[in-house]
Amino acid sequence: MHMLLVEDDDRMAQALATALARRGHTVRRVVRATEALRHAREAEFVLLDLGLPDLDGLDLLRKLRTVCDLPLIVVTARSEERDIVQGLRAGADDYVIKPFRMAELIARIDTVRRRSGRPGSSAPSGPSASESEGRRVRTGDVAIDLAGRSVTVDGVPVRLTRREFDVLALLAAQPGDVRSREEILDRIWGDAFLGSSRSLDVHVAGIRAKTGRAGLVRTIRGYGYQLGDLAAQGRPTDERSGA
Ligand code: CA
Repeated sequence: MHMLLVEDDDRMAQALATALARRGHTVRRVVRATEALRHAREAEFVLLDLGLPDLDGLDLLRKLRTVCDLPLIVVTARSEERDIVQGLRAGADDYVIKPFRMAELIARIDTVRRRSGRPGSSAPSGPSASESEGRRVRTGDVAIDLAGRSVTVDGVPVRLTRREFDVLALLAAQPGDVRSREEILDRIWGDAFLGSSRSLDVHVAGIRAKTGRAGLVRTIRGYGYQLGDLAAQGRPTDERSGA
């Protein structure tokens, strides 16, 4: 896989390039955001530092997202929750905080890469893809197309990140079923399970914020999550008991 490494720190770039080359990837390393924009089209995957000399990495990320949908992981020292949320909202598929263990970053790259396989492609699909093929799930005014990997709210498309969609799709695959945090982390984060627990909350917050339907993902306190029944929530004279 051809990777674009946007990193202005020489030692960090060297370490990453060596580790990636060992995994069989080719790497183009660039220092500046302007170079990154120039070379984005030829890349299959992007690793993005946020502290760049000419432009903030988040602004670069937003620019990149207007021109392409490449799988992308932010690799940065910025560790505040606000930074993580901003990075994911701007379209990062994952967010890794420096210093990190190389094995963990490699595992996350593999996971994002696996998840980014388009339906119908020959790439191995995620666990939810096989059981959800061709299915649409509706709750209230939210429609989830599991095969087409798209979501609309009141007919208007909502752009979720790959991983946000994966979380939503897992819940929507069996509406009514409650999924434990462990199961969601295991099935969606896979190898990168460790240290992802807070990331799950961030993704759920992202789904709620972007759809504007806070009830779309229902928290089962102390256990996990469930697809919310928006139709039931939207009716003031709800006849269901215990809803
Ligand atoms: Ca930097």
